[in-house]
Amino acid sequence: MTPRKALVTGITGQDGSYLAEFLLDEGYEVIGMVRRTSTLNFERIVGIQDRIRLVQGDLLDLVPLIDVIREHRPSEVYNLAAQSFIPTSFGQPVLTGEFTALGVTRVLEAIRKVDPSIRFYQASSSEMFGRVVEIPQRETTPFHPRSPYGVAKLYGHWITVNYRESYDMYAVSGILFNHESPRRGLEFATRKVTYHAAKISLGLADRLPMGNLEAQRDWGWAPDYVRGMHLMLRPDAPEDFVLATGRTHSVRRLCEVAFGCLGLDWERHVTLSAADLRPAEVDLLVGDASKARERLGWKPTVTFEEMIEKMVAADLALLRAQHHLD
Ligand code: NAP
Repeated sequence: MTPRKALVTGITGQDGSYLAEFLLDEGYEVIGMVRRTSTLNFERIVGIQDRIRLVQGDLLDLVPLIDVIREHRPSEVYNLAAQSFIPTSFGQPVLTGEFTALGVTRVLEAIRKVDPSIRFYQASSSEMFGRVVEIPQRETTPFHPRSPYGVAKLYGHWITVNYRESYDMYAVSGILFNHESPRRGLEFATRKVTYHAAKISLGLADRLPMGNLEAQRDWGWAPDYVRGMHLMLRPDAPEDFVLATGRTHSVRRLCEVAFGCLGLDWERHVTLSAADLRPAEVDLLVGDASKARERLGWKPTVTFEEMIEKMVAADLALLRAQHHLD
């Protein structure tokens, strides 16, 4: 039987790398789209590089997107590429809009031109809920994004819905709450805390400056979420789904758990940094994934505390290797 073929944009990112591994295990042929950079950044896919096919492309450029889809003819496209860091979106709002908003239209347009029967997954975000109007947030909750990133994602969400309704395409928007892992970028709150806690415990640093400690997020385990992406493209008819754990924790609690794993008192090391505050903040996110649980059989498998423990352990091992400790 010919293996199913999937195109993954953003394959060098946290989710792209886990999704590629998951799809390979499911027997897929995986095509990963990477943009040209002056130095390669394939750390997250180094273990599977000989099992996937990498092709060049960029969300900014429509014609190569059409070429890639025409040449490889995937049956599923997962659009995970984005400028995904919220603080950067305040500094580079126009670029964020080009990648994270209009980039989605380019991918959808390429699919529509080549083969509108391709199933499409769009990586939407709980940041679209922003200043939340109900708790917990679900598929029907109205949106009120609070950053250029959230606004761009909201465009990506609606253009996905629009192509589904206008052209009868199988296009799905997965509204995912935060999900983390040892592969999370070092600038994101969870990884920043686990990495610096590990660094401090090894005597390689003493202080960790943080912004808003009161912000609350629904943090899940990234490998659970990529499994959910694949499940969302399985039903006969396309629909949007929320993925979340249904539990929320503050950044303060994140610090407490991460430093606590190492026997450290976080309050002695974490300092408040006004430079890390955002022009507009999202105070609380907590999702209701009942629809995904009932219709897709999806549920999270790793608790917040277990996840932070895994991330701290991975950062300790990484730092020990980098600094030739032990
Ligand atoms: P990530 O680690 O930041 O990865 C982003 C990926 O996008 C990277 O592979 C990056 O490539 C690629 N990319 C950026 N700009 C591009 C462009 N112009 N053309 C082609 N590729 C480009 O993000 P992630 O955490 O894996 O998240 C995956 C997706 O889910 C993103 O769209 C994110 O916004 C969304 N999301 C994430 C979360 C979460 O909690 N992780 C929650 C909700 C939604 P380079 O390696 O070249 O930079």
